[in-house]
Amino acid sequence: MNIALIAHDSKKELMVQFCIAYCGTLSRHTLCATGTTGKLVADATGLEIQKFLSGAQGGDQQIAARISYNEIDLLLFFRDPLNPKPNEPDDANLLRLCDVHNIPVATNMATAECLIHSLDRGDLDWRDIVNPK
Ligand code: PGA
Repeated sequence: MNIALIAHDSKKELMVQFCIAYCGTLSRHTLCATGTTGKLVADATGLEIQKFLSGAQGGDQQIAARISYNEIDLLLFFRDPLNPKPNEPDDANLLRLCDVHNIPVATNMATAECLIHSLDRGDLDWRDIVNPK
């Protein structure tokens, strides 16, 4: 599966800890991320991650484009719901596209853990059937 990672600044440490905890599972999949999130996670875990631009520079829109092309199977997007960001409309569009294309998306760690466990169990294998590569 192709998994995309994005974390707002206040959630980056949480994303790093999450990826350390689930490194084994994540290592069996293809990962991509916005620039800073990808660098922090790759440095902490050694996971191979395709890094796009930083979110503020359009990295989240690069991921949105891949979602539109059905090239992303799962999005882990740890948002900061308390501090509005200048590129917030991009975030809303990203989530909208996940709904348009029926992409499983987690915006907090509790949901991300559910999805990672589902991934491990093979519950998300239907994505290969719905969206054959
Ligand atoms: P970043 O982008 O990983 O490059 O910081 C995420 C964001 O939109 O804040």
